[in-house]
Amino acid sequence: MTRFARRFILSLAAFYLLMASPIMAAPVIADIQIAPAATSTRIRLIASEAITISAFVLTNPDRLIIETPDINFQLPPDSGLAAEGAIKSYRFGKTAPDRARIVFDLASPMVPGDIVNSTAMGGGAYTVSLFLTAADRQSFDKAAQISALSIVTKEPAAPNNAATHLDNRPLIVIDPGHGGNDLGATGVTGLFEKDVVLAFSIALAKKIEAQGLCRVLLTREQDVFIPLDDRVKFARQHNAAVFLSIHGDTIASGVDVHGATVYVGDERSSDAEAAKVAEYENKADSNGGYTPQTTDSSVADILGDLTLRETRTRSSLLARELVTRIADTAHLNRNPLRAAGFRVLRAVDIPSALVELGYMSSKADVDQLISSEWTDRMTTRMADALVEFLGPPRLSQDTAKP
Ligand SMILES: [Zn+2]
Repeated sequence: MTRFARRFILSLAAFYLLMASPIMAAPVIADIQIAPAATSTRIRLIASEAITISAFVLTNPDRLIIETPDINFQLPPDSGLAAEGAIKSYRFGKTAPDRARIVFDLASPMVPGDIVNSTAMGGGAYTVSLFLTAADRQSFDKAAQISALSIVTKEPAAPNNAATHLDNRPLIVIDPGHGGNDLGATGVTGLFEKDVVLAFSIALAKKIEAQGLCRVLLTREQDVFIPLDDRVKFARQHNAAVFLSIHGDTIASGVDVHGATVYVGDERSSDAEAAKVAEYENKADSNGGYTPQTTDSSVADILGDLTLRETRTRSSLLARELVTRIADTAHLNRNPLRAAGFRVLRAVDIPSALVELGYMSSKADVDQLISSEWTDRMTTRMADALVEFLGPPRLSQDTAKP
């Protein structure tokens, strides 16, 4: 090969690498300037290129949220800590691969008004200014209620790669519990929870696919170990509209407890039993020989107080829908709707639930779990519940409250 030919091939390769690179570098925000006045406040973002933002408010506590595309925040570490007029403090961070938010804690009610883009800064910088106006309690609450409703009814996040552009049906991520070295509970007949829940999850996925209204992905399709946090990460990376973890319960005592339970994530457990179940399921990582990294709390903080309440409302609706639908098929546990701090239910922006299908320690439950007739009925009910949940939103009073 001549030197010229080699160089030509190399530059061709570089060219294709460049073309294949799916995303350009995110715009930089280098400063957030707050200019308070008596009845209005201007927030100005200094950016490396023109960016499109939107703004809304939320209550409890009063906050202003600016939504942006993905941003490379290059701000001093103490940014946002000091108070300025109506703005007590602010935080910022990524909320999805292609989105970010800046959250301003408000000292007094303010509502967002005009957004003005300009290029007037020297050095090629762009500015985006948002003007806030002081509002009375009632108008602020009303504005917050409208934003909360639009968050609840918002379509699932737009897919961000070419493969999913073709299919914008909502995505359901089903998470068969345990796998690999982490066996889960061992059933009365010697069956492992990891195998029972995988078979059930595959059946549920097929049922959902057959309905054709939603897409579905499994966090595992084989007998492999996957850390709990990676399961959540998987759902977030794929912009899941729902995350559903499937498990089979167990109980140490010989008492014949049986039936299904649906859990939502909450650091305050609904009861001591729920707390114990979560503690047991959270041991999955160490059972699989894996030590999880501590959670990235900076992201969790930003997303957390912002989105968590909305997501929790939706998770409860999802759980309730599931319990209602499966009531005639699965014998329901006493208090079938519970809450506890499951590590796998920590996606702060994806409605999530964990279904304990039944007790691996109950012969009656295990017999059901391996019955194809029961699995068929149960997966039909659950698929219906998911579609109902993701369908046209019916705004109950729960969701209307921000
Ligand atoms: Zn389990």
